[in-house]
Amino acid sequence: MIFCPLYSGSSGNSIFVASDKGSILIDAGLPGKSIENALVGIGKDPRDIDGIFITHEHIDHVKGVGVLSRRYGIPIFANKLTWKGMEKTIGKIKEENIKIIEDTVDIKDMNIKSYRIPHDAADPMGYSVYDGKTKVSIATDLGFFSEEVDKGIRNSDIVLLESNHDVEMLKFGPYPYNLKRRILSNVGHLSNYDCGKAIVNMLKYNCKRVVLGHLSKTNNYPELAYETVVSVLRENGVKINEDVFVTMAKRDMPSNYIEF
Ligand SMILES: [Zn+2]
Ligand SMILES: [Zn+2]
Repeated sequence: MIFCPLYSGSSGNSIFVASDKGSILIDAGLPGKSIENALVGIGKDPRDIDGIFITHEHIDHVKGVGVLSRRYGIPIFANKLTWKGMEKTIGKIKEENIKIIEDTVDIKDMNIKSYRIPHDAADPMGYSVYDGKTKVSIATDLGFFSEEVDKGIRNSDIVLLESNHDVEMLKFGPYPYNLKRRILSNVGHLSNYDCGKAIVNMLKYNCKRVVLGHLSKTNNYPELAYETVVSVLRENGVKINEDVFVTMAKRDMPSNYIEF
């Protein structure tokens, strides 16, 4: 299995996952061209993508979806309310490429399961992909680390987990009061500190590898996210790079091309 965040952050998200037989994208939240370039950059052909799975209708997750589907005939998978929420943004999609998912979908040798995430969108979902050997999961855009997310990502070989903001930077930063409140709410985004706490919990269920992603451009720095998470882990007796590997997803380019 291959796992590679092409882009991860508040300015756009798209994650590439492939098994022996198939490949998918989870979200396509940048211009189609940027995603094409990233795929070509990691040696993949956009025509080989078997489906794009949408977590929720926010623009940083759907911006390039319509273009990619129209250009390469790629089916789009989302639940009913997310389809409704993104209809206008993504433009006209061929009937045959509109796939409404409820819980789980099989594509070639991959089983893709969804779980609800606490976020302020119509019906936001995280996904995990399992090919019979390896399980990879995406958990970003989390107001808090809910039980449903916890259960959905259990026993993953790798998890892309949100480490969105530093709470102090957000509180004293330039965002308007209402936006600060939204981000801090339980349908907003996961802070660096809460991300660290979530990883401590995930270690109970054999998670060996975490990639920190969906960082805020305004209220975080990669170094700060990493240091905060690592210090929470150490405080809880976790040995870094022994009990768990922690790496960072890059905002503007493919990162962590991980092959299992
Ligand atoms: Zn969102
Ligand atoms: Zn987002």
